[in-house]
Amino acid sequence: MPTVFDSIAIQLDSLTVVAMDEPSKDRANITWQPSRVTSAERERLFAHEPVTLWLTGLSAAGKSTLAFEVERRLIIAGHAAVVLDGDNLRHGLSRDLGFAPQARHENLRRVAEVAKLMNGAGLIVLSAFISPYRNDRSMARDIIGAARFCEIHVSASLAACEARDPKGLYRRARRGEVEEFTGISAPYEMPEHPALTLDTEADGVDACAAQLMSLMAPYLGPRRAQAR
Ligand code: ADP
Repeated sequence: MPTVFDSIAIQLDSLTVVAMDEPSKDRANITWQPSRVTSAERERLFAHEPVTLWLTGLSAAGKSTLAFEVERRLIIAGHAAVVLDGDNLRHGLSRDLGFAPQARHENLRRVAEVAKLMNGAGLIVLSAFISPYRNDRSMARDIIGAARFCEIHVSASLAACEARDPKGLYRRARRGEVEEFTGISAPYEMPEHPALTLDTEADGVDACAAQLMSLMAPYLGPRRAQAR
C-alpha cells in the first residue's frame, strides 16, 4: 500500500527530471559572461600555465597517493594546485551516481567541467579517477581542451593492486559485494597514447612524483615563493 511519503518521493522524482531537462531547452536565453581578467594575468599571478594532469588506472594503482604528493610539492614550490579525487567527489558533487557505465560517464563529465573551471581560474588540477573507458577520457579531453589535458597512466598489475588493496575493496569485490568493480567485474581500457606512464610496481612514490614534476616543468614559471 503506497504511503503519502511514496507519493511525495514520486513527485520529487518528476521535479528532478523537470529540473534537469529544462535548461537545455532554454540555452538560447543563456549568455556567457566574460571575465575582466585575462588568462595571461592569471598566469602571471600564479607563475604557471594551468593544466590538468588526468591520472587514470586501476583502483590501488596509486592515483590518489601521487596526486596528493604532487599537489603538496607544487604548493611548497609556490603554485596553486588542487586534487580532484574520485572518492572525495562522490561524497558531494556526484553522491547521486553509482558505477554503471552511464553513471561513470556522468561523474567524469562533471569532473571534467570542474577541472575546466579550475584551470580557467588559473589552478593546476590533478585528477585521480579510475576513468576506465577510453570514450570517457576522450570526453574529458574535449571538455578541458587538448592543450590543457595531460593523460597519465598510473600503471600496476591487477595482482599488485589486489595485493595492496588499501581499502579492502578487491577483497569485497571478489566476494561479490561490490558491483561493477574495475578489473574484477568491469573492464579497464588502457590509454593508447598517454603523455606519461608511471609503473608504480617498479618505482616508488618519490620516483613517480618526481617524474610528474618533470612533466610539469614546462608549465611552471619562476617560483612565486622565490620571486617575492
Ligand atoms: P588509487 O587512488 O589508484 O586507488 P591509492 O593511492 O589510494 O590508489 O593507493 C595506492 C597504494 O599503493 C597506497 O597504499 C600506496 O602507498 C601504495 N603504493 C606503493 N607504491 C606506490 C607508488 N609508486 N605510487 C603510488 N602509490 C604506491
